[in-house]
Amino acid sequence: MIKRSQEELGRRTAILSEIFDERDRQDAKFGEQNHPPLLWLAIAQEEIGEAAQAVLHVREGKPGASLEKYRAEMLQVAAVALSALEAFDRHPQRCRRCGCTEVAACPGGCAWLEEDLCTACGVEPA
Ligand SMILES: [Zn+2]
Ligand SMILES: [Zn+2]
Repeated sequence: MIKRSQEELGRRTAILSEIFDERDRQDAKFGEQNHPPLLWLAIAQEEIGEAAQAVLHVREGKPGASLEKYRAEMLQVAAVALSALEAFDRHPQRCRRCGCTEVAACPGGCAWLEEDLCTACGVEPA
C-alpha cells in the first residue's frame, strides 16, 4: 500500500470536496442525469475541450484568460466522470452492445429485445 503524507491526503481531500460541490451544482441544475456511455463521453469531451481552450487562451495572451479557468474546467471534467459512474452503477440492466438502459434509451428510442440487448442493436442493419 502506498504511504501518503498527511499534507498530500489533505490536498486530495480538499479537491475531492470541490468535485463533490460541483456534483451538487450539476444535480441542482440538471437533476439526476442518465445517459448511455456515448453521450457521457460527448459531455466529458466537451468539458475537456473547454479546459483545453482555457489553456490555449492563456498561451495566446487573450485578455481575461487565466489558468484558474483551466482548473475550474478540470473540476467539471472530474464531476462529469463521477456522474457517469454513478449513472452506470444506478442501472445494472444495460444493452451489452451500446450500454443504453431503461431510463437512457438510444436516440430515437429502443426497447428490450433480450434482457441485455436493445432493439436498436439487436436488428441487423438493412
Ligand atoms: Zn443497444
Ligand atoms: Zn438501446
